[in-house]
Amino acid sequence: MIVQLTCSECGSSIEIEPEKSATKAECSVCKNVQSINISKNLEQGELDICPSCGRKDFYKQKDFNRKVGVALFVVAAILSIWTYGISLIVAWLIDLLLFKKVGWIGICYKCDAIFRTPKNIGNIPDFNHEMHDRIKYADHDFKGEPLEH
Ligand SMILES: [Zn+2]
Ligand SMILES: [Zn+2]
Repeated sequence: MIVQLTCSECGSSIEIEPEKSATKAECSVCKNVQSINISKNLEQGELDICPSCGRKDFYKQKDFNRKVGVALFVVAAILSIWTYGISLIVAWLIDLLLFKKVGWIGICYKCDAIFRTPKNIGNIPDFNHEMHDRIKYADHDFKGEPLEH
């Protein structure tokens, strides 16, 4: 599993491979060092506690760059004038292939750390707006107990 943290100083992403012995993550851009706490489960690829903020509240999402997808369809739509719509079919196929290739990622509500790809992704719930708002704006800690819909 690859963990992608956000540098608290400059907002760059810091990629780490979770190892229990690692206690610090250095930003390659601004050299800021932040302390991390890798749990035993995390080292084995199971997401339980966020190494950056210590929270247990995560959601899952498709690991796909939506901007690329949208740009693809815009280009295809323009080209379809000359290709009689064939470019749209091609774009649809590319989109399909991209979607197939990508996996799921887990994301920490609190600090937006990204976990690619945890073994226990099946146990991680979908994004919940209420949880997001309460964690972000009210600093609520759900302690890994997701809200029921
Ligand atoms: Zn930085
Ligand atoms: Zn976190």
